[in-house]
Amino acid sequence: MLVVMQAHATEEQVRAVCEKIETLGYRAHAMPGALRTAIGITGNRAEVEPGTLEEMPGVQELIRVTKPYKLVSRDVKDENTVIRFPDSDATIGGRSLAIIAGPCAIENRDQAFTVAEKVSKAGAQFFRGGAYKPRTSPYSFQGLGEEGLRIMAEIRDAFGLKIVTEAIDNESLDLVEQYADVIQIGARNMQNFSLLKKAGRARKPVLLKRGMSATLEEFLMAAEYVMSEGNYNVVLCERGVRTFADHTRNTLDLSLVPAVQRLSHLPIVVDPSHGTGKRNKVTPLSRAAVAVGADGLIIEVHNNPDKALSDGIQSLYPEQFEELMAQVRQIAPVVGRTVPEAREGLPQPAVHASPGH
Ligand code: PEP
Ligand code: MN
Repeated sequence: MLVVMQAHATEEQVRAVCEKIETLGYRAHAMPGALRTAIGITGNRAEVEPGTLEEMPGVQELIRVTKPYKLVSRDVKDENTVIRFPDSDATIGGRSLAIIAGPCAIENRDQAFTVAEKVSKAGAQFFRGGAYKPRTSPYSFQGLGEEGLRIMAEIRDAFGLKIVTEAIDNESLDLVEQYADVIQIGARNMQNFSLLKKAGRARKPVLLKRGMSATLEEFLMAAEYVMSEGNYNVVLCERGVRTFADHTRNTLDLSLVPAVQRLSHLPIVVDPSHGTGKRNKVTPLSRAAVAVGADGLIIEVHNNPDKALSDGIQSLYPEQFEELMAQVRQIAPVVGRTVPEAREGLPQPAVHASPGH
């Protein structure tokens, strides 16, 4: 059920309706829009009795939401969600595309700083890097853990990049929330419902990757889990699905982007690195992702891909990333978007050169 408030409804009226919903034993989710506020009601197993709410001051109408996902849906909030960050002009879902770039895993301080400097110069505003890696083999590099998070926090200070990094379980989520700007939930955890709920209680935006065999509805339901706990800053990410095709690691399903945008107000970014698994396909698919209307890209970049501890084969050399940025910068205006400018003459970070690191 959805309560649509009148355009001129006051904050007190919105608050009173939310309180009423909570006293009835449900959860209220106020979603302010450009014209009016809508209040989503969750936690109701049976139908909500509309009578009491319908008569309250400021209420325009009650609408039954028939789709299984509610808070994710455009029925609840028509305008696109734009995720903003304190002290930064970087957004996800705004006119300017969110460019998230960095290595698959943080391997050491030098590697991370080298890549961060390159991607920042090329125009990326977000730095990705795994400190906790969900690897297929228990014998593969599992990530540096908290040490990796500390390195990324230093990178934020040195370059002003916003940090995106994955939490693989409840324990790492607490640490990731502490250090990062965006909490990534990986494809393998898309239906880890207790982790999704915990991410829903976190105070940082969540980047949710599509599971390898998830349908659109399952993907949106996973986002609904996060939102149902009160975290409305969710970014969806298409990263390829399993098909019979074996010329790529996964099949990047770009048709998901307009399909999501039709149903949901949440931003959606595309990961052509995991989506193809091949370096030579990352730039072409990035061009296609921007053309199809994605809100951003997440790209693996490594200073020495041949020696990378994970996903080297799909990681771009920094020069290739620069070229990718130049290309998508030309495509973006065709779909009414922009790409952050390359930044020349970045200040050399003081911490980078300091001894003892
Ligand atoms: C990653 O981003 O490095 C990663 C492990 O992604 P995914 O969850 O999409 O496999
Ligand atoms: Mn990876």
